[in-house]
Amino acid sequence: MCEPEIIEDFFGVYILYCLNPKFKGRTYIGYTRDPNRRIKQHNRGTWAGGAFKTNNKGPWKMVLIVHGFPNNISALRFEWAWQNPTKTIRLQHLNLKKLPRKESEFQFKLRVMSEMLRVGPWCRLPLLIRWLEKDFCEDFPDERRPPNHMTICHGPVKSKNLKKSSPAVNINEECLLCSKHIQSSQSKLTCLNPSCNLITHITCLADLFLSPGDYVPIEGDCPFCNKKLKWGDLIRKMKGCSQDGVLTQTDDGEASDSDQEVTDEELGDKKYSDENEQFKIKNIGGDEPSWFLDFNDDL
Ligand SMILES: [Zn+2]
Ligand SMILES: [Zn+2]
Repeated sequence: MCEPEIIEDFFGVYILYCLNPKFKGRTYIGYTRDPNRRIKQHNRGTWAGGAFKTNNKGPWKMVLIVHGFPNNISALRFEWAWQNPTKTIRLQHLNLKKLPRKESEFQFKLRVMSEMLRVGPWCRLPLLIRWLEKDFCEDFPDERRPPNHMTICHGPVKSKNLKKSSPAVNINEECLLCSKHIQSSQSKLTCLNPSCNLITHITCLADLFLSPGDYVPIEGDCPFCNKKLKWGDLIRKMKGCSQDGVLTQTDDGEASDSDQEVTDEELGDKKYSDENEQFKIKNIGGDEPSWFLDFNDDL
């Protein structure tokens, strides 16, 4: 078993597969900030914080998790759409229905996910599609491959809480793109190349990286050192994540087993009818999840 990759500021949406012979092949889609804690909860039951739908039907295996969402709102929207492909406006043109006799529930859910990754707004997010169980891993068919900037990876993952992000401080540095002053640490971006001196407004670099008609940058070349920069990595660095996303393993600041941050997950799991689910999503945010704006709201 290889060491888990440690990811800070983790927001993931996973699919469980039921191994219980009585319910074999059932699936469950959920959201979590801590996949290792979450699967234990599902397998222990509702008394431990597991979902009603998975209670007493275990064991369940978490076979795949999509992560890299910028915040809980973005991940919860993905979760809802994956659970409700026919009700999701962005997927309606695809008319996603399980092919009778040709497709298992699990295969259908994977097909839905692969279609979701290819439409907006998800196609612009810096997502990772992580197979947690080798035996379940399937290649994406050519016609449904995720966008190139997304990463398909294998192996275990461990979430780590970000230490409370540093408060906005007033600064007075010059943006090297517009030559105006940057007044807050939260509107400043720097290059991922440690020897590059690029300092810029978030908005100035976003303008440089955006193609016409887009509202969220994906990637671009540093105007100073030419390093290829993924927008998601730049924002993660600004938020205080370590740059490569992989840390030396320490116990410091790890996502804990406490019940404290279960709230979002339970929102998604417990006794919510589809109607309520929709209400929940509506309540969370406006119409268009602009990743860029979500980020600023989150700070
Ligand atoms: Zn600027
Ligand atoms: Zn640079």
